[in-house]
Amino acid sequence: MATYLRRKTQICHGARVIMQSKNDALIAYNVLNKKIISNGFCTLCGACEAACPVGALQVESEKVNRLHDCSKDLDLCPICYEICPHSEALLLRTLKFVADAPVKNEALGYYRKIVLAQAVDPKLREQSRGGGVVTSLLTYGVEKKIFDSAIVSQAEADNPAKPKASVALVPDDILSAVGSKFFPSSVAKAYGSAVYGYGKTKIAFVGVPCHVLALRKMEAWQHKIGSNLAITLGLFCFGTFSMAPLLEYITKTYNIQPSEIKQMRLSSKFVVQTANDTIRIPISEIEDRIMPSCRTCTDFTNELADISIGSAYPLDEWSTVIIRTKAGEDFFYGAVENGIINTWVIEQEPKVYERVVRAAVQKRGAALKEAKKMEETYGYLPVLMLRETDALAHVKVEDVMTRKVKTVPQNMTVSQLLDLMAKQQHIAYPVVNDNGEPVGMITLEEAAVIDKERRDKTLVGQIIRRKPVIVHPGETALDAFKKMSEYETGRVLVIDPANPEQIMGMITKTDLMHTMIKQYQ
Ligand SMILES: Cc1cc2nc3c(=O)[nH]c(=O)nc-3n(C[C@H](O)[C@H](O)[C@H](O)COP(=O)(O)OP(=O)(O)OC[C@H]3O[C@@H](n4cnc5c(N)ncnc54)[C@H](O)[C@@H]3O)c2cc1C
Ligand code: SF4
Ligand code: SF4
Ligand code: SF4
Repeated sequence: MATYLRRKTQICHGARVIMQSKNDALIAYNVLNKKIISNGFCTLCGACEAACPVGALQVESEKVNRLHDCSKDLDLCPICYEICPHSEALLLRTLKFVADAPVKNEALGYYRKIVLAQAVDPKLREQSRGGGVVTSLLTYGVEKKIFDSAIVSQAEADNPAKPKASVALVPDDILSAVGSKFFPSSVAKAYGSAVYGYGKTKIAFVGVPCHVLALRKMEAWQHKIGSNLAITLGLFCFGTFSMAPLLEYITKTYNIQPSEIKQMRLSSKFVVQTANDTIRIPISEIEDRIMPSCRTCTDFTNELADISIGSAYPLDEWSTVIIRTKAGEDFFYGAVENGIINTWVIEQEPKVYERVVRAAVQKRGAALKEAKKMEETYGYLPVLMLRETDALAHVKVEDVMTRKVKTVPQNMTVSQLLDLMAKQQHIAYPVVNDNGEPVGMITLEEAAVIDKERRDKTLVGQIIRRKPVIVHPGETALDAFKKMSEYETGRVLVIDPANPEQIMGMITKTDLMHTMIKQYQ
């Protein structure tokens, strides 16, 4: 990838001669500025600053500043646009970092295991207001020298709600970053400082999905600083707030000044804590202060991280942990064996699993709906989607479908179905009648909206909302993708053309994604 750069600077009789650019269009900054920064899609991660080869960008005071015109140094540079997490570039390539995980789940991405976990240290759990898992893992990793530094988001001294991305070198630096801050943090910029400023080579990185995506893009691009990444701990994320609009709203509506805020946290509501008071704001009241990019962001569970961590609502002091890579698994269980982390089986807590899946499905659904509107308004879609679909035209459905399809009978109760979903970690099943013929499709979301008191008496067959969308084994994967888009579903059944009641297989969006990834391997 580095061959993309074309240096203009020539050494001529000892004097540095700068050539004037003839074609500014080959400079990625122009596209980055036009499509992402000017449209308000930047989430201030600082990846463009960290990756720029000539130090032309600086993320400061909540904006991206261009320090000098880089077209005077280079004819051609694709870096900042491709690395930016809100550009469509490199998306499929980044999936290769997690694609060897055995489970492919439409809602949660690729993973090896899902567990519940918490810090053994109760003080840490209390400070984090969650499981304290991220802080424990980072402290353990630095103490055991598994990595040489960690990128964390501490609280600004004069405004504790505001994150200050920094390079943690010792456990105290990590401890002072405990807890979530719901405003943008320039963690990728801090990653650049760890490499360039501190000379660190084994860095642990903590961030929300777009932060982790930026780092994965650096790795996929083979950027020279990408190889210094040791492990990524990804936080679940529903969105980040634009700082000034949210703080102004809280001041105006609740008479709380930013300097009075001690902590913000998320439970079923958005909780703002001061020294004397706690206010609980319904998310719906403040959701229009969420950053524009978040509205079309499809990733809730941080699908590219080595380990993803989010809350385990309704359980207090526990976190949900999704282990995706071998490196993540080895690191996590090292901490467990060393007595740093307690674990518990998620299958025993179906409500936690149900909530995580629902949140992920809802976020993706809302993003896809919003995307259409945004594309009309901005002529640009900053969203991770199945867009590079050409590769699918050459693949037959029968070559990529899952053959052993698990079905459920239409006379199963909704309670039994939800238990099965938690145990098998599936989010949708074809429903069959007494003759084994497909009569519909049922998803976790559709089942979970049934009131708890009615779940034992309601049969799956009574709540099926849709007939299965079908394809034949000889059709192409692109045909399957078009049907998924047309019927707004994540899966289609493969039916024997000679016997329309016979299920031969199933194909999901994840299967299609997997097919496309293979093109890059
Ligand atoms: C903006 C945002 C939105 C979130 N939305 C959800 C959600 O909808 N549902 C859910 O289940 N979980 C969500 N989370 C994750 C959740 O709040 C916890 O961070 C996660 O469960 C880890 O908990 P912990 O106790 O292990 O973390 P802790 O041990 O408390 O460590 C938290 C770590 O998060 C880092 N951090 C804090 N703020 C930021 C930030 N703005 N950007 C990057 N890193 C940061 C800190 O460096 C610290 O290392 C969100 C987190 C953030 C930052
Ligand atoms: S990465 Fe730097 S040099 Fe390259 S286009 Fe962007 S601003 Fe210019
Ligand atoms: S890379 Fe990060 S800071 Fe740069 S434009 Fe994109 S979102 Fe903004
Ligand atoms: S919702 Fe998406 S774009 Fe917004 S902060 Fe979270 S990961 Fe980034």
